[in-house]
Amino acid sequence: MPPNPNLCPHETNFHCMFIFKKVADLQGWLNDERARGRSIGFAPTMGALHDGHLDLVRMAKRECDRAVVSIFVNPTQFNDPKDLEKYPRTPEKDTELLLPAGCDALFIPPVEEVYPPGKNFRIHLDFRQLDEVMEGVFRPGHFEGMASVVNRLLDIVQPHRLYMGQKDFQQLSIVRDMLRQLNSPVELVMCPTRREADGLAMSSRNVRLTPDMRAAAPVIHQTLQWAKTAFETMEAAAVQAQALEKLTRASLQPEYFDIVDGISLLPVPTRADSNFIVACVAAFAGEVRLIDNLVLRGDSGFKGLWYVIKF
Ligand code: AMP
Repeated sequence: MPPNPNLCPHETNFHCMFIFKKVADLQGWLNDERARGRSIGFAPTMGALHDGHLDLVRMAKRECDRAVVSIFVNPTQFNDPKDLEKYPRTPEKDTELLLPAGCDALFIPPVEEVYPPGKNFRIHLDFRQLDEVMEGVFRPGHFEGMASVVNRLLDIVQPHRLYMGQKDFQQLSIVRDMLRQLNSPVELVMCPTRREADGLAMSSRNVRLTPDMRAAAPVIHQTLQWAKTAFETMEAAAVQAQALEKLTRASLQPEYFDIVDGISLLPVPTRADSNFIVACVAAFAGEVRLIDNLVLRGDSGFKGLWYVIKF
């Protein structure tokens, strides 16, 4: 039977997805949904979607009445213009993937909708060491750009829950701190890292790997797993040195392999120094920069497949 045009699409059996390019149009729809008492889950992305992104959408849909996804390749978080230029863009394929994952609204704005000319949306918060370590050392300015766009998108969408991946652990830590500093009512949900069968963390950047580098890249996850076992008996400095050697031997070019406290992101010398310890790594596989992480100790907050970080 064809859909009844007098009914809202969500009141029919047909699942459909709205696509908005303008802030005002998206907000009109969101206001209507909120007025009907519906909760909103939001997953910001930069597109070139894979199953890791879709997990965020599925989780948002499971937890909230409406799942909203944004696709916006944020120019202000790229410190390397070549990286921005080469960032994969596949909007048609993304749209096809989002519908069956349960997305209700896709926001895919042009740059001037997110950053209208003449207005300044940069936020200047003090993240203390959180944005100075690891990625902060190698990608100066990245986190200020990232926090600013997440803040801007949250301002536009005003979701109940924000869904982000463990894959970008430092990003998640900074967003958590930003929400705390801004007294935001938004609940942050961390979704576990989705991996390929050989352990490589899914990433939009993986399509740019050469066959040789694709073959080498799983060593990143293997090294993290080795570190988890090694850290039971060895100190962090020794684990770190051997991990960097393993990555280099596999023809990868590591930038860092750090063992840190899962909240403060400060180095943890031994297993006894924290009950939530994460190993974080960044390495070039040829020209492609990959990051990954693994919890070495502590699962506080994990609830089955995922956990909610509340404040
Ligand atoms: P991006 O499009 O790379 O900005 O990522 C958008 C969101 O998807 C972020 O919250 C990422 O942490 C998350 N994400 C990216 N890759 C994965 C993955 N392999 N597993 C789970 N979440 C991911």
